[in-house]
Amino acid sequence: MELFNFNPGPSALPKKVLLRAQEELVNYQNSGLSVLEMSHRSSHYEEIHHKAIDSLRRLLDIPESHEILLLQGGASLQFSMVPLNFLYGNRTGYYVTTGSWAKKAFNEAKKIGHAVELASSESEHFSSIPAMLEDSFPELKNGEGYVHITSNNTIYGTQWQAFEQLPSKVVIADMSSEIGTRKIPWDKFALVYAGAQKNLGPAGVTVVIIDKEWLHDQKVDIPSMMDYNVHAEKNSLHNTPPTFNIYLLSLMLEWIETQGGMPEMVKRAKHKSSTLYRTIDGSDGFYIGHSALNSRSKMNVTFRLPTSALSEQFLKKATDCGFVGLPGHRSIGGCRVSLYNGVTVESCEKLSTFMKNFKRAQKGS
Ligand SMILES: *Cc1c(COP(=O)(O)O)cnc(C)c1O
Repeated sequence: MELFNFNPGPSALPKKVLLRAQEELVNYQNSGLSVLEMSHRSSHYEEIHHKAIDSLRRLLDIPESHEILLLQGGASLQFSMVPLNFLYGNRTGYYVTTGSWAKKAFNEAKKIGHAVELASSESEHFSSIPAMLEDSFPELKNGEGYVHITSNNTIYGTQWQAFEQLPSKVVIADMSSEIGTRKIPWDKFALVYAGAQKNLGPAGVTVVIIDKEWLHDQKVDIPSMMDYNVHAEKNSLHNTPPTFNIYLLSLMLEWIETQGGMPEMVKRAKHKSSTLYRTIDGSDGFYIGHSALNSRSKMNVTFRLPTSALSEQFLKKATDCGFVGLPGHRSIGGCRVSLYNGVTVESCEKLSTFMKNFKRAQKGS
């Protein structure tokens, strides 16, 4: 049976990427070796490594003011690395808590330095992004701290709709579940991090993009593996990098470029999500969206049915029909459709049709 993969992460990869990896697995470009067994100091691997970094710079339009790092430990390690590097002396980390990941980031920061909650949507069960205008943010000068946001809330299905209101140069953003699907105004961001396993490839490699000025202002007496400067000086080859994951990342980035690059990914994200939101909005309340209308995510569409029994029935039928990864996160229940770059427009349309048919069958019975 053909499967339609909406897993929240790790998530769908394009068939072409998987087939290419399969084709090259045993003998990478006539080198006689698999990428899995190559030295990370070999010229073949170095080429892969640099290709991944160059593709990221080109695709995401990252200016020379920012360094690109490929690290391990997932986005979760960044929750600790960010404050270890930047929350010392009198600096303050201002956290906007818009979901479980945002809260985790905040809690890690509190263990390490002075962190405060700037705004939260927890009282509304994280169903929206708090309304924040320019004057909602502290005026931070050099060395006074940062503002941390989670730009897409994977579990609740909410997303920052705009970045214009953010202050310049001092924002640190967890973009794990939306990187590679929207244009990023780099002048706002001191640091952006994202696990690759949602939009950019497999688990095991984390992309960190950091303002070089911030590298100069970083705490120095921290463990080397936690130190952004150590990784930057060695171009992310301080120790053995996750070579095969970086290879898959480079294949995924190449695939994005051949599809039409970021403009095409932005367009598809809009198209895929609006297909599903239209289905929800046109269902006369049969499908009930979790997110407030002004905070809807183009990456994770969260909803439930009128009763939990019906939600269960829907999920069971969906599984029988080949739709994978639809149960909502255990903290919110219901259903979640994750629409990362590897998910096709066709899968979304199939799911939308399935939803309409399921509703019709219920109403008729
Ligand atoms: C998935 C996710 C994480 C966790 O990533 P790991 O790589 O598992 O540490 C953190 N933040 C957001 C927004 C996520 O979607």
